[in-house]
Amino acid sequence: MPPPGAFLTEEGFIKEGFFPLRIAFCEDCKFVQLVDIVSKTELFQKHFYLSSISKTLSQHFSDYANEIVETFKPKIILEIGSNDGVLLEPFRKLGVRAIGVEPCKQVADVSKSRNLETIVDFFTESLARKLVKKVGKVDVITANNVFAHIDGLDDVMRGVQVLLKDNGIFVFEVQYLVDLIEKLQYDFIYHEHMSYYSIMALQPYFEKFDMEIFDVKRMPTHSGSIRVFVRRTGSRKGPISKNIENLLALERRLGLDMLKTFIEFSRNVKSHKVQLIKVLKKIKAQGKTIVGFGAGGRCSVLTNYCKITSDLVNYIGDDSPFRQNKYVPGVHIPVVSLEKLHESKPDYILLFAWNYAGEIMKKHQAYIDGGGKFIVPLPKISVVP
Ligand code: SAH
Repeated sequence: MPPPGAFLTEEGFIKEGFFPLRIAFCEDCKFVQLVDIVSKTELFQKHFYLSSISKTLSQHFSDYANEIVETFKPKIILEIGSNDGVLLEPFRKLGVRAIGVEPCKQVADVSKSRNLETIVDFFTESLARKLVKKVGKVDVITANNVFAHIDGLDDVMRGVQVLLKDNGIFVFEVQYLVDLIEKLQYDFIYHEHMSYYSIMALQPYFEKFDMEIFDVKRMPTHSGSIRVFVRRTGSRKGPISKNIENLLALERRLGLDMLKTFIEFSRNVKSHKVQLIKVLKKIKAQGKTIVGFGAGGRCSVLTNYCKITSDLVNYIGDDSPFRQNKYVPGVHIPVVSLEKLHESKPDYILLFAWNYAGEIMKKHQAYIDGGGKFIVPLPKISVVP
């Protein structure tokens, strides 16, 4: 598989890199992670993902900042993987000093252009030491949709220990393995996502750093995430939430502690591929046109794994200017602006960004009223309306 964020121009085709993509389950510590790691400079210094493009996500992060400020009343926070400033901005609005760490220059530049304090770097223990000298220790460290993206997790956790005040809070959001398995979200398994988290695996991991999870909340983002609250063991008053025991019970019920669960998942993935191709080919045989919507990582995985090329899906519309006029890695389907996509009046739109189906379909009422249809690939293949 190609790295899913590496959208490329025609000149890039000959030097395109492909890497194995295999996922493994440890029967000892129950941790699920990739076996093959692509270097972080390859993955993150030239990706094209902008969080603030999604209204749903922007609203989510604004509510998130409100909750943290109300509950923990921080004066200074640091965000790991701050991207275009999607969470820094609402913190700043609430009067909190918010510092972002973001290694991708072109994405960090967007954050800087909003006058948000942004350090262009990977978060590591050594960066944390420099930051303590510069700004002192912080009340809260946040890390959203980035904890899964880190190969050297111990280094990051040592950095958290260095930078966090004694009674500080480490909060992160990450896609939840329960949702990945239940909704067959194999399109979320890609090189950028190195780890796939359950509470079962996280709890003993934090113990290694004398830290404890004291609350977990399930979140709808990325089609099923968890917000995890961590503190130094015994550092703050307050009970350990019952949510943790409840989720551990759910994980055991789903068999996340057993290899056979993951073998069954992989069988379901293979049969999904066969069914999806069948549906697309049937539509094409009727002489209809299919285009795609949302050229993110999910799209790269689904097209490359299912071998969907431009003869099935002619092109893909995306509202990120960084992806437009480029090609999807591997399968080389052209990416166009959404205006261009709609000008062509497609019969069907294959919704790669199915996790935003609600938001997207609302915007496309006129397309649907005019007879247009969406193909939603996951969690179950459906054609709407
Ligand atoms: N926090 C945002 C962005 C998530 S995408 C959100 O939740 O929407 C992950 C981001 O983390 C990317 O912008 C990527 O460049 C960045 N990143 C990857 N590895 C990192 C690391 N080691 N330290 C800090 N940021 C990292």
